[in-house]
Amino acid sequence: MLVPYIRSSFYGGIQWCPFKAYLEYNLGLPNTENFKARKGTLVHKAMEILAKAKLAQQENQEAFTDEECGKTFPCSISSEEALQESWDLSKRQKPEFPWSDADFKDCQKWMNNILGHPMGLYDPRKRDIFAVERFFDIPCHFSDEKESRKWSFVDREGKEHSGEIRLRGTMDLLALVDASNCVEYIDYKTGKSRQDWSTGKEKTLDDFKEDFQLLFYFYALTKIYPQFDVFLMTLYFAQAGGPFTVMFSREDIPKAEKKIKKFLDNTLSITKPERILGNPRRSKELFKCTRLCHFYESGECESHYKELQQLGILEHTKRHANVAAFSSYTGGGKTDVQCNA
Ligand code: SF4
Repeated sequence: MLVPYIRSSFYGGIQWCPFKAYLEYNLGLPNTENFKARKGTLVHKAMEILAKAKLAQQENQEAFTDEECGKTFPCSISSEEALQESWDLSKRQKPEFPWSDADFKDCQKWMNNILGHPMGLYDPRKRDIFAVERFFDIPCHFSDEKESRKWSFVDREGKEHSGEIRLRGTMDLLALVDASNCVEYIDYKTGKSRQDWSTGKEKTLDDFKEDFQLLFYFYALTKIYPQFDVFLMTLYFAQAGGPFTVMFSREDIPKAEKKIKKFLDNTLSITKPERILGNPRRSKELFKCTRLCHFYESGECESHYKELQQLGILEHTKRHANVAAFSSYTGGGKTDVQCNA
C-alpha cells in the first residue's frame, strides 16, 4: 500500500479493516461520518470552545472568535453555552442526522463526566492551557536513518507524484504541568468501550503504555516542542472508565520510533489488503461491514475487491487513486472517535 502520510486514524483504520483503510487512504474514497461519531465530535467541539476561552483569558483577552462557529464568544462562556453552540453547529453541518433531546442529554452527560472529574483535572477552564487543536505535519525521519522516508506514485496519466512521508495529526488539548519541563496531552474519547479492535479486548493502563496513538503523538510532541522532557499522555474515556494517563520521556523516543516504523514498513508491504467480508477468520466482525461500513452498502467494497484481484494493487491504485485526496490532510483526531464508538 501507499503511505504518503501517517495519521493515528490510518493506523486505527488498518486495525479495523485493512481493505477499508486502502479504499480511504490510498484511493481517497470519502469516509462518511456516522451519527455516534458526530456526537463525539460535538463534545470535542464544546471542550475546544472552553479551552479556547481559557487560552484567551490567559492572554488577557475578553473574547475570542471561533471560526468554525463563525462567532465571537466572551471568555466567560459557560459549559452549557459551549455545548449549545456546538450542538447548533453540528445540527447545521449535519441536518441529515436524527437529532433528538435524548442525544443532547447523552452529550451533556459525557461532557459533565469530564468536567465533573475530581479537582476539575480535565476541565480546560481549570488548566494552564498551552495549545488547543494543535495541528502538526512533520517529516517522517527516524533517528537511525540518514534521510526522511519518501513516497512516489505514478498516476494513470503517467504523471509522477512524490514527496516526503509526513506524520500528521491534530492534538485536542495541551496543558502545561510544569512550564519548564512537562506538558500534558489530553484527548477526550466518547466511545462506549476501550476495546482494542484488533484483539477484541478492553485496553488497560499497561496497553496504553504501548498504544500507537499515544506513542505517535508523544513522538510528534518531542519534535515540535524541544523545551519539554516529560510528556503526560492522557485519554479520557467519558463513558468507559475516565482518565488513563501514561508518562513518556525522551528516553522513550526509540520505542515510539520502533512502533511507527513497524507500522510504516508493514503497511508498505501490503499487496493484498485483507477484508472482513468472506474471511472466515474474521467472521465475528461481519457487523462492521453490514452495520458500520458504507462501502458495503454502496457495493464499492465488492467491486474494488474484484478488480484488485484481477489487476493487482499497483495497477488498481493507479487506476482509481484520487491523488489530491490521498496526499492531503482531511481531518483531525476526531476520526479516531469513530473507531472507538
Ligand atoms: S464492507 Fe467490510 S470488508 Fe469491505 S471495506 Fe467495509 S469493513 Fe472492510
